[in-house]
Amino acid sequence: MIPLMNVQRQYVDLKKEIDDTVIQVLESGQYINGPQVQAFEREFAEYIGVRYAVSVANGTDALVIALRAAGVGAGDEVITSAMSFIASAEAITAVGAVPVFVDCTSDGYVIDEKLIDEKITKRTKAIIPIQFYGQCADMDEIRRIADQHHLIIIEDDAQAAGAEYKGKKAGSLGDIGCFSFFPTKNLGCCGDGGIIVTDNEQFASFARALRSHGSGEEGKLLLRSLSSEPIGLEIQTGEHPSKYFNYVFGYNSRLDEIQAAILRVRLKRLDQWNARRIAIANRYHDLLSDNVVKPTQLPGRIHGYYVYVIVVEQRDEMRKYLYGKGIASGVYYPVPLHLQVAYQHLGYEKGSMPQAESVARHSLAIPLFPELTEDEQNEVIDAVNSFF
Ligand SMILES: *Cc1c(COP(=O)(O)O)cnc(C)c1O
Repeated sequence: MIPLMNVQRQYVDLKKEIDDTVIQVLESGQYINGPQVQAFEREFAEYIGVRYAVSVANGTDALVIALRAAGVGAGDEVITSAMSFIASAEAITAVGAVPVFVDCTSDGYVIDEKLIDEKITKRTKAIIPIQFYGQCADMDEIRRIADQHHLIIIEDDAQAAGAEYKGKKAGSLGDIGCFSFFPTKNLGCCGDGGIIVTDNEQFASFARALRSHGSGEEGKLLLRSLSSEPIGLEIQTGEHPSKYFNYVFGYNSRLDEIQAAILRVRLKRLDQWNARRIAIANRYHDLLSDNVVKPTQLPGRIHGYYVYVIVVEQRDEMRKYLYGKGIASGVYYPVPLHLQVAYQHLGYEKGSMPQAESVARHSLAIPLFPELTEDEQNEVIDAVNSFF
């Protein structure tokens, strides 16, 4: 079976380096909030081209904490795309705000910037564009709309580590960027992980506090406005004077040292892996039958090809056919967010987001990951083409 994604091959390629760094962490006895996390945050911020990076436990938490750090909460509305993974909307719900869905475009399947304006109300506080399938939305236009209406842009970059828009990395385009290090993402760890990136000191400081129970230990800016009364013991214990002084209700959401150490090894390969993804995508583009709609390369972008998604009228038949030929495939995603049962109460009707609904019915991801061999690529191409 040719898998859709495969993280084992990546591990095998880097086994020695990963094993060594993990053993070093195990021997160090520092498993939380240690030097690996600090170094990774610095290196990731530098890679993205932003001032601050705040690591958290997963990509969903990154979105939740980013929303809270930006002051989004009960009574607010947040505009996002109807075509995404549930976490993009779930995070909005988790902070007490309401997701307002906008249809996606027919080319690229990113949020349709032309449909955003009509969804803005007095309650709208933020926009979450999803850099979908690894490709950025129209960020210039989204920035223009956000500035005009004083909205905050929180990027969902979970599928777009290393992707670019007009020479800038995904994550540096909005006010805050949120990444997931789920193992199959372009940059993955060996478990769960996530990170928030921003140039805004206030957001970064608030996010740092929120990820550790709203503690003053990391929330330096919170301390400026609120009084704290250290009790003196820190002199003996080495504890931060504000560790147990809590200013807001937060979370326990941390990246651990082992994951950070693994991510530091992998970050160095991200560009090279993404170049492989692009090379394979280009081969697919040239060699796949024109009976399938291939992904559109939108202008001014470098696509991350988190997944390579084709659109086929007889999607489900194609899926079975490929399975019969030993080729895995996937559907991202079978139900658009506005039609998820969990969002029934919002009252969206079938047919209200025609593009997202069409993607849900006809899109199919075929195997693509950096280590996919040329023979495997050829098998995939032959199988897809022989369906017609
Ligand atoms: C994976 C993903 C997330 C959530 O990341 P987790 O680390 O699994 O919590 C959020 N949004 C999108 C678009 C994703 O693909």
